[in-house]
Amino acid sequence: MNIILFGPPGAGKGTQGDKIVKKFDLHKVSTGDLLRNEIKNKTNLGNQIKSQMDEGSLISDNTINDLISKVLSNKKFNNRLIFDGYPRNLNQAINLDQQIKMNKQKISCVLSLNVDKDVVIKRISGRQTCTNCGLIFNEHYFPASNKNHSCDPKFLNKRSDDNENTIKHRFETYLDKTLPILNFYKEQNLFHQINGMAEIDQIFDEICGIIASLET
Ligand code: ADP
Repeated sequence: MNIILFGPPGAGKGTQGDKIVKKFDLHKVSTGDLLRNEIKNKTNLGNQIKSQMDEGSLISDNTINDLISKVLSNKKFNNRLIFDGYPRNLNQAINLDQQIKMNKQKISCVLSLNVDKDVVIKRISGRQTCTNCGLIFNEHYFPASNKNHSCDPKFLNKRSDDNENTIKHRFETYLDKTLPILNFYKEQNLFHQINGMAEIDQIFDEICGIIASLET
């Protein structure tokens, strides 16, 4: 089973992705995380992409396709992948299709989280990620406390692209480049629409229902 999690920035793909990984023993591939790792490790690629990431523009398809082909050819993750924030445009979707077929795998479903722009902005501007354990919190909706988080609060980090100007640009890039690829998946009957503004656990229940229906 390979799953694509689809939706605008701040739709909750990371949060739901982590829950799906735990329950169904999948491996999450977030191209955003892979790129941020390159920046953190100050690699050549990381130095090249930092300013583009900070302004919220898409990184080149060649770079993304290279990162993805390494993951897809890794037998350890065979048919156990969940893609978060990828593919981001039609070119990437077509490339993924080709690579998936080449590796004798398939996409099982595309789960699309629907969220309004004003909610996205509020969610992202309050987002905090723990650099130690990876848990995601939100200053407005789901603040970290000693009840839900055991690491030192010093590990709570705000992403450098989570500011209001960049968020607006990321949302526009999503509407312009990413949203149109839904037709590609609708034509293949892989598309499932989910209300991303419901409670976290309610969304997760809906996702589990869809995944269960795929396996029968
Ligand atoms: P969000 O979903 O909140 O935008 P991500 O971590 O998915 O967060 O992406 C952060 C940034 O990483 C994007 O604004 C973009 O610059 C880059 N990025 C991530 N995934 C891709 C991709 N598949 N193609 C091109 N750029 C990407």
